[in-house]
Amino acid sequence: KVKAGMAQMAKGGIIMDVTNAEEARIAEEAGACAVMALERVPADIRRQGGVARMTDPLKIKEIMNAVTIPVMAKTRIGHFAEAQILEALGVDMVDESEVLTVADEDNHIDKHKFTVPFVCGARDLGEALRRISEGAAMIRTKGEAGTGDVAEAVRHARTINRQIRIAEAMDPTELYEYAKKLRVPIELLRKTAEMGRLPVVNFAAGGIATPADVSLLMQLGVDGVFVGSGIFKSSCPKKRARAMAQAVTHYNEPAVLAQLSEDLGEAMFGIPHNERQGERRREGPIGEEM
Ligand code: PLP
Repeated sequence: KVKAGMAQMAKGGIIMDVTNAEEARIAEEAGACAVMALERVPADIRRQGGVARMTDPLKIKEIMNAVTIPVMAKTRIGHFAEAQILEALGVDMVDESEVLTVADEDNHIDKHKFTVPFVCGARDLGEALRRISEGAAMIRTKGEAGTGDVAEAVRHARTINRQIRIAEAMDPTELYEYAKKLRVPIELLRKTAEMGRLPVVNFAAGGIATPADVSLLMQLGVDGVFVGSGIFKSSCPKKRARAMAQAVTHYNEPAVLAQLSEDLGEAMFGIPHNERQGERRREGPIGEEM
């Protein structure tokens, strides 16, 4: 329960990717509830390629010293040694992230072994509940980080919502079969069906670039948002950071959002979904859609 503290605190908030102390201060002043300390934002990882690893501890410490809000950092999927190092550094939460290069093709980190809480990405309910059963205290959509295209985050949020509705409509007998189909523990699925939502804090991430994007995902029912490249790859990061932070609070007020969306300079230059032909979309084993 203590572990969920950080995730609960973030609820109703926006978490911003930053790559140095200056950006971290901009994020805090804009109203971010936490920052993610990164070496490169996802758009640059995507463009530059190469193996993407945990951020240099010196950089993480520099960012931790620059702000009073919680600081998160990313570990490669399955790389429990990176996670141990991040925990030793005293980060507030570890993101086991597909944005970095996968370190273990078969196994995610056993997150129960850690004191620091973890957030993990998911594209559907099966993935989300598998990560929770491994000990994740928070889930986020995977989306397509670094593209500035929100379409995949929307797909993942809607898929999880739809699968929860399906589970809610099932009787106790049917739930066993659905748990097998989703490859998840029955207890977790039953709890999810009872609650009518994921049993942990659930954020959206991947391609969110405007206050309207924030509103869209919040209206789809997520508890908050991660913004990666969307802020510091735009022409006017300070102004956009503030507007997007405000949008999390005012997501249901179109008139306020109209004001917040005004004159923000250029949004990040995105790569639309249908122009990513060479890339592996929805790669890897994905749980049953239904
Ligand atoms: N996410 C990524 C990026 C992966 O490479 C893999 C590999 O198996 C998975 C998720 C697997 O997730 P799960 O164990 O939930 O099927």
